[in-house]
Amino acid sequence: MRQSAKYNRVVLKLSGEALAGDVGYGIDPKIIESIAHQIKEIVELGVEVAVVVGAGNIWRGKTGSEMGMDRATADYMGMLATVMNALALQDGLEKLDVETRVQSSIEMRQVAEPYIRRRAIRHLEKKRVVIFAAGTGNPYFSTDTTAALRAAEIEAEVILMAKNNVDGVYNADPRVVKDAKKYTELSYLDILNEGLGVMDSTASSLCMDNQIPLLVFSITEPGNIKKAVLGENIGTIVRGK
Ligand code: UDP
Repeated sequence: MRQSAKYNRVVLKLSGEALAGDVGYGIDPKIIESIAHQIKEIVELGVEVAVVVGAGNIWRGKTGSEMGMDRATADYMGMLATVMNALALQDGLEKLDVETRVQSSIEMRQVAEPYIRRRAIRHLEKKRVVIFAAGTGNPYFSTDTTAALRAAEIEAEVILMAKNNVDGVYNADPRVVKDAKKYTELSYLDILNEGLGVMDSTASSLCMDNQIPLLVFSITEPGNIKKAVLGENIGTIVRGK
């Protein structure tokens, strides 16, 4: 029997860290290949996939500003770094014959299309994977906020937040606290009130106000993206008030 997906259109948020190998920085081609395979699996289920990539594996604006750089300049550097990750992922997907388009919020026509909402939707309808690069195009924001914004714009039914080495939302860092408790379900208000480090507050508020559910899960186990779109009980689901 053909497996059927729970969602028609998703935004997959990949943090920069998820693209780095064991060394924790840079781009690991093996990881790109594995993620590309996982994305291909859900494209084959008929799911329309938009990807938002981060850049923590290369550069974060906050780090730059802590080193004394102008915050906006450091943030623009972060946005440019997401373009490198987007191109690496595009390359990985195209090696598997998955059609893709990269759309950048900062114009750079030689390497990517500019972000045009209607065009992105058209690509998705044609079952092309659309990779959103350069964040929102504005400093002081994050790629989590980008995922929330783009999900609202393209009317995605869910944000799939793939985490590295963490399989959901916990009441404390499970890598530090041994008996940390994993939540299966949470509300955005819980995240905001308890300051849980799932997403920043701008991203959480945007998701809450626009009623976009978020599924937080681990990308470390191959096959999890497919499980997520099939509606299997993995990770933590965040929704509502
Ligand atoms: N960034 C930004 N505006 C945006 C999105 C990202 O200025 O709309 C910058 C910001 O400096 C951020 C960096 O790009 O630190 C990388 O994004 P992020 O930290 O969200 O990446 P992730 O944590 O997902 O790897």
